[in-house]
Amino acid sequence: MPYYPAELDSDDEGSIEYDWDNDSQPDLDDVYMGRTMGHLRLGGSTSGVPGTPPPRYSSVPTPPPGYAAGSLVTPGMQSQASIQPERQILSYLRADLCIEIADVCPRWLKQQKHVRDFVTCGLTCNEKLCKDGPSDTTMCTYCHRRLKVQGKDQCGQTCADKAKIACLLCKVRPKNGSYHFCGKACKGIATKSTPLILEIAKGHTSYDMVENKFKSGWKGGSPPPTIAKIFKIIENEEFLKPYDAYRKRVGPKENYLYHGTKRQCQLGVSTTKLCASSTCAICNILKTSFKVEIANPWGRFGKGIYTSSASNKAFGYSAGVMLLNKVVLGNVGQASGSSCPSGYDSVVYDPQGASNETILYTNDAIRPVFLIAFQ
Ligand SMILES: [Zn+2]
Ligand SMILES: [Zn+2]
Ligand SMILES: [Zn+2]
Ligand SMILES: [Zn+2]
Repeated sequence: MPYYPAELDSDDEGSIEYDWDNDSQPDLDDVYMGRTMGHLRLGGSTSGVPGTPPPRYSSVPTPPPGYAAGSLVTPGMQSQASIQPERQILSYLRADLCIEIADVCPRWLKQQKHVRDFVTCGLTCNEKLCKDGPSDTTMCTYCHRRLKVQGKDQCGQTCADKAKIACLLCKVRPKNGSYHFCGKACKGIATKSTPLILEIAKGHTSYDMVENKFKSGWKGGSPPPTIAKIFKIIENEEFLKPYDAYRKRVGPKENYLYHGTKRQCQLGVSTTKLCASSTCAICNILKTSFKVEIANPWGRFGKGIYTSSASNKAFGYSAGVMLLNKVVLGNVGQASGSSCPSGYDSVVYDPQGASNETILYTNDAIRPVFLIAFQ
C-alpha cells in the first residue's frame, strides 16, 4: 500500500550535542560586559558604564515613523538611507546580544561561548521567543541579525535555506534530523501546553513533505484543493503512551492515513487555540484522540475509526480540516461485515484505490500528527 514513511513523525526529542543554555549559570563577566557596553550607545544614551544594563526602550524618545518601538533604532534618524548603516552596525553587534534585549531580557548580553550558536541568552528568553515571537519583526526570522529582504521572511538565501529545516518551535536553530525540534529544551516548552498546534511555514521541509503526500494521495477526478495551512500537532507523553505500547505489541509497522473531520470554531484559520465546545470534532480529537465509543454505530463497516490512504476520500468527510494520523494496522483483514473479524486488528476496503477505507477498532491504534487546513 502506498502509505507514508514512518519518519514523517518523530515525537522523541532524540539526542543533540548541545541545547539551549540553562539560565542557572554563573553571572556574566563584568569586564567583558563593560567593554561591549562602552561601544554600544543605544538611543544616544551615554550609559556605557560597566555593569549597567542597556536603556529600556520605554525611556527612549519616539522612534522615527515606520519603525516599531521595539526596534534597535537610534532615535532622531529620519530617512531610510541614514538608518540602514546604523542597522548594519547593530546587526553586527546583535551577534553578541540576546534578541530579547529590546524587551525584558535581564541578561541581554549572551555568554561568549554561545555567541554564534544562539540568538537569545538562555532558556528564559528562548521560551519568550517561542511563545510571543520576536520583538522586532523587521528582522530575519532565522538569524534575527539582518533585515528581512522585502517580501520575504529571511535576510537572504543562506537563512532561507536554514529556515527550511528549522526547529518548528524556536525557528532559529536547525531541527534535530527527523525530529521536529532542535532539542530537549524546545520539546519541553512545546509539551508544556498540549494539545498544541504549531504552524509550519510554507517552504519548510515538513510542509513540503505533507503537501506532496497529500497531492500524491489524491486519486479523485478533480484536482486536489489548495492547502491553506499545515500544523504539527504536539501532544504530551500521557497522550502518546497508549499508542506507543500498542505499537510495540501489535506493530511495529506504522502507516500514515487521513481522517477528514469538521469544526465548529476557527481552528487552523484564524486561531490556534482549541475551543471549549464538546461537539467540535477537531478540537475534541486533539484533546482526547479518537474514541471508538463515540463513533457512528451505523458506519458501513461498523463502529470504528475510519481513515483512508486516499486524501480525496478523507476530504469528502472534511469541512475545512483534515488530520494526518499515525496508525498501527497490525493484522489487516478484508472489510466486509459490520465489525472487525476475529483474528484481525483492522480492516481495509479498496486497498490501492480512490475509495480506500481503513478502519480501526481500537483507540490506541491511532494518534493525530498533522492538521491540514483548507481555504
Ligand atoms: Zn535574554
Ligand atoms: Zn538571516
Ligand atoms: Zn528549537
Ligand atoms: Zn473547536
